[in-house]
Amino acid sequence: MSKIAFIGLGNMGLPMAVNLKKAGHDVHAFDRVATAMEAAAREGMTASASAIEAVSDAEFVVTMLPNGPIVLAVMAEIVPAAASGAVIIDCSTIDVESARSASAMAEKSGLRLLDAPVSGGTGGAQAGTLTFMVGGEKQAFDKASPILDIMGGKLVHCGASGAGQAAKICNNMLLGISMIGACESFALAEKLGLSAQAAFDVISTSSGFCWSVNNYCPVPGIGPDSPADHDFKPGFAAELMLKDLGLSQQAASGTGQATPMGEHAMQLYQRFLEEGGSGKDFSGIIEYLKTAARPAD
Ligand code: NAD
Repeated sequence: MSKIAFIGLGNMGLPMAVNLKKAGHDVHAFDRVATAMEAAAREGMTASASAIEAVSDAEFVVTMLPNGPIVLAVMAEIVPAAASGAVIIDCSTIDVESARSASAMAEKSGLRLLDAPVSGGTGGAQAGTLTFMVGGEKQAFDKASPILDIMGGKLVHCGASGAGQAAKICNNMLLGISMIGACESFALAEKLGLSAQAAFDVISTSSGFCWSVNNYCPVPGIGPDSPADHDFKPGFAAELMLKDLGLSQQAASGTGQATPMGEHAMQLYQRFLEEGGSGKDFSGIIEYLKTAARPAD
């Protein structure tokens, strides 16, 4: 049994922390929101009065926070308070630069930090089947693997610090682009008088097959159960997809890499959110695309 500090008990963090607790670890939880702390206490975790209190003597520190500036602010607080030899595992999705800065901050204090963003959503967090893409020292990865294994179904050591975030950003840029492509295909099929079922039966077994069609079809009643079957209740919120596409464009601009499809996907998600997409799953962009004005031919 290890003492584990868990900071950030939101939609993802709470179920991940619950799995660590259920596996028999001594979990000390902190979130700045009182209801999250109450939920953690109900699950048998120790509710800490502060992030600093949570990390004291902890062997592992897991953070699951909204964005880079918040992660850096929390690291500035906890790094000086963490036990020597502690491994910090930041599972938040943030930009590569912030991940590297957080790691450098930890290293200066003799600690090791892994960037370990996840894929699999809240369902994967509850089931303990997340995919972890991890950047940082291999030795720290090996030490953290038994802890990550409890929360995840697959662990990939992607390389040095920042490599986990790089993998996450590239994956989610492709996901945003492919979901828009899937939505455009189903919208066009409908206008052509092709049934969604026929379109699915062909595309899902032909060269257009992809996760957005086969596993997460944006049309209700077609394919496996997905947010489309629940009025586009997230799932993976459109706001989070826009955040991740923004990170991809920040990275593209920082590296000088052209990503025209990623840039256009970001603009389309921005418009979707401005025109009624707020609070909906990212696959709900099909509703926006069906009504969007076509540029004059
Ligand atoms: P969330 O907003 O539900 O949870 C974030 C939590 O962090 C909140 O409870 C908030 O109170 C807490 N928090 C914020 N600042 C804090 C601070 N200074 N100290 C302590 N706690 C603080 O978000 P989420 O959906 O759980 O996502 C968390 C991260 O995981 C994000 O980076 C997101 O991009 C990523 N992610 C989310 C999903 C998903 O499907 N929700 C999937 C993969 C990755």
